[in-house]
Amino acid sequence: MNVAVVLYTSDLRLHDHPPLRAALSSCDEVVPLFVRDRGVEAAGFAAPNRLAFLADCLAALDAGLRERGGRLVLRSGDVVDRVCAVVREADADEVHMAAGVSAYAHAREERLRSALEREGRRLYVHDAVVTVLAPGAVTPAASDHFAVFTPYLRRWSDMPLRAVVPAPRTVRVPEGIGSEPLPARDSVRGRSPGLARGGETEGRARLTAWLRDGVARYEETHDDLAGDATSRLSPHLHFGTLSAAECVHRARAAGGPGAEAFVRQLCWRDFHHQVLAARPAAAHDDYRVRHDHWRTGAAAAEEIEAWKEGRTGYPVVDAAMRQLRHEGWMHNRGRLLAASFLTKTLYVDWRIGARHFLGLLVDGDLANNQLNWQWAAGTGTDTRPNRVLNPVRQARRYDPHGHYVHRWVPELADLPAPAVFEPWRLAGLERARYDYPDPVVDLADALARFQRARAVS
Ligand code: FAD
Repeated sequence: MNVAVVLYTSDLRLHDHPPLRAALSSCDEVVPLFVRDRGVEAAGFAAPNRLAFLADCLAALDAGLRERGGRLVLRSGDVVDRVCAVVREADADEVHMAAGVSAYAHAREERLRSALEREGRRLYVHDAVVTVLAPGAVTPAASDHFAVFTPYLRRWSDMPLRAVVPAPRTVRVPEGIGSEPLPARDSVRGRSPGLARGGETEGRARLTAWLRDGVARYEETHDDLAGDATSRLSPHLHFGTLSAAECVHRARAAGGPGAEAFVRQLCWRDFHHQVLAARPAAAHDDYRVRHDHWRTGAAAAEEIEAWKEGRTGYPVVDAAMRQLRHEGWMHNRGRLLAASFLTKTLYVDWRIGARHFLGLLVDGDLANNQLNWQWAAGTGTDTRPNRVLNPVRQARRYDPHGHYVHRWVPELADLPAPAVFEPWRLAGLERARYDYPDPVVDLADALARFQRARAVS
């Protein structure tokens, strides 16, 4: 009896899963394995929102496997040790897993490959499981990765997509392979009260509903903060309960400008993954050095706290930061203006913001988070690195009736637009009615400081 182990990482699904398909076609029995990897947890992964969502994903994966005659095996510890232990217990010949892009994922693959080779077993690493195209599948003539999005999009869009792999009908798991109990979402302390539900069934239902009811209007509405009219599929893409390749196939089949705009966003995801795969240090170092001397010291520390807590005195920034805390998720326009505010208006190191986001975001992802932060800070791939988003103008444009602010900043719930964009301008008595802070910084002064620092005018 041939046995394979399928090591799940950021691909917690049964549909469109090339490693599982390959294992089932070459072996009679398969051990679907997830390792609660102490290395990943020590590296900052153990944020309550992601742990709670992960618990849902593992439960759904186990349920899906049980419907097919199998089950999920969970172990905790060092991932290489745990995989090797299961391989020995099951006398497995091969291990299948999805390729990752981070430095940690690369090192994990290498360690696992050598450890398995020493035992006479083989590791198969499958590309284009986590992303639509494998990083490096398209490259410009003179580099190992694209540093500018538009030419990447052009080449990416022209590439043939691999076919979607159907979910297996049956999965036979060898007897006698023990599993730790699966974690329960409710046992995770400190998760956000409005955290979304995880799991493959939930993700697939959300994708179907999105393609039926949401995507057609995406092009016009994706920046509408109050409308909340984006797919909210990011946590499912992060945990791999949805396949990005399947999303592209199905969106293209739906057709229309909204679907096209949605596919373009999925291409941004691939874009950041291929940057990180080629430059793993971009997770912590400036991708393009701008010789910044970010602010430090007591005043900066106080402003950082105000930013984290959503009391900067700029209502739309505060609304976004409070949404993050409440839901473990934030609208993309909110992320852009909150990140621009921290890095350009307050002139604070993007790493501080990225760390705070990673502590809360349910979709918190090294490639997307760090590289979007770098993009917003102008140290990344933005071709206009010194643009500064003005939070008042952004609010007028993307929250014209102030409804997003009203939702997340209840102190201002009865202050109509346009006054709600600049509450500090209210006259004395009127101003005193609102228990809401004054701005932490003057926008004109902040802009001048940033332009001096970057030596631009
Ligand atoms: P939709 O608008 O419906 O887009 C569909 C999908 O495309 C998303 O689910 C996501 O997978 C992908 N996508 C959309 N925009 C981007 C983008 N700019 N970069 C990469 N992929 C994108 N996204 C994450 O998944 N994880 C993060 O940790 C993360 N951190 C961010 C930090 C900052 C400072 C900024 C500006 C953006 C960040 N993003 C991150 C990108 C983007 O904000 C989210 O992917 C998006 O808001 C998720 O909502 P949605 O699923 O409704 O997106």
